[in-house]
Amino acid sequence: MKSSFDVVIVGGGLLGCAVAWMLAREGADVLLVERDQVNQHASGQNAGSLHFQLEYRMIEKGIEAAKQAAEAMPLHLEAARLWAGLAEEVGEPLGVVQRGGLMLAENAAQASLLETKAEIERSWGLDVDVLDGNEVRTIAPYLSESVVAASYCPIEGKADTRTAGPTMARAAIRLGATVRTRTAVTDLRRNGSSWSVTLSDRNSGESPRAQTVTAESVILTAGVWTTELGNMLGGYLPTIPLALTMTVTAKTEKFIPHLVQHAGARLSLKQSLDGNVLIGGGWPARLVTHADGTPDFSVRPELLRASVAGNARAATAVVPRVGPLPALRTWVGTTTVTPDQLPLVGPVPGAPGAFVATGGSAFTLGPSFAQVLAELALGRKPGIDLTPYDPSRYERGVGVS
Ligand SMILES: Cc1cc2nc3c(=O)[nH]c(=O)nc-3n(C[C@H](O)[C@H](O)[C@H](O)COP(=O)(O)OP(=O)(O)OC[C@H]3O[C@@H](n4cnc5c(N)ncnc54)[C@H](O)[C@@H]3O)c2cc1C
Repeated sequence: MKSSFDVVIVGGGLLGCAVAWMLAREGADVLLVERDQVNQHASGQNAGSLHFQLEYRMIEKGIEAAKQAAEAMPLHLEAARLWAGLAEEVGEPLGVVQRGGLMLAENAAQASLLETKAEIERSWGLDVDVLDGNEVRTIAPYLSESVVAASYCPIEGKADTRTAGPTMARAAIRLGATVRTRTAVTDLRRNGSSWSVTLSDRNSGESPRAQTVTAESVILTAGVWTTELGNMLGGYLPTIPLALTMTVTAKTEKFIPHLVQHAGARLSLKQSLDGNVLIGGGWPARLVTHADGTPDFSVRPELLRASVAGNARAATAVVPRVGPLPALRTWVGTTTVTPDQLPLVGPVPGAPGAFVATGGSAFTLGPSFAQVLAELALGRKPGIDLTPYDPSRYERGVGVS
């Protein structure tokens, strides 16, 4: 492999693959480095929801927190637009379906919360309507009588987590990008006006082979490892890891066209293109820790039976037909949020030519995060105002309570 690139991207999840493709499309000479396999971590383990309404975790802490989380709406609106055209631009399907999303209420307090939520979202330009129970059952007859209202957003949907990242990695390679898997970035150093990136390659022989490459810019798309990579660069990038649970049922006839979420419970539910029902929505798993109490991301989190049962209860309460379906598989994965729930997107503080994006629903937001990162690496002004997501806000003490 050659030793000099325009951009080195660290991390081959959806985000790294998308930015590699976007940069290669612009003619940049790109190296994407992935320690394991492309799409092996959060990007291949998630629920595949494309949710543009505020999520349950954003509204459960009250209206002020919801208003703050809504500051990410420009990124969501751009992501919705990009997902809609992605398959055509990439040249391969990514399982994207945007047939609308429902957030359900089962009591009057939740219904009133949906009204307030919709007002906040509309003020940012999101198309969202609040329907009563009968109206919602007209478009979603699979919902139980316990649903008294729902907010409906027509651009929500789903994408196939198994194919989205790898498809974009392939598209990047077709455009000349280099993708190195089983290769870790172990050191990042500013060297004059460029970056010196040390790699540890596990592809040949028993022991890893070290190599150093140089690049004008470095992009961190490392998910839960972002804070660790920030430390390598000398930049403070605080993230909070969350271990989450997912369940998929056996295939059944197609009856759920929408993405379904809940205003008062952890729930996301959708049917895959093959007919399996995917059930998730934020039920916790237990992170495994090192002896000093810090999380060990190299070990799969522990499954909590109470989470599987709670998630199944929340699903069958609103979609009774899910109850009798056999569960095929339950799995866990780890993702990141930030201390103020807003994404971390922009230049890494104190590290010229280094850029980062992570935090929150970075599958949904992957394309808009990637677009912003590509613009920054190409020296262009991003089309979205990044001030609310600026990683340096934490150094200034903003957003940390
Ligand atoms: C169970 C679950 C359900 C979820 N559901 C949804 C959902 O429905 N919708 C949604 O929008 N989001 C969802 N998320 C969140 C979403 O999956 C993540 O936000 C998103 O996939 C992050 O993508 P990424 O590319 O930034 O990170 P990742 O996919 O984690 O990729 C980061 C990569 O960086 C690599 N890496 C790290 N350090 C190094 C290094 N030093 N050298 C080389 N490589 C390195 C890692 O090996 C990894 O492959 C969910 C997450 C989980 C766990």
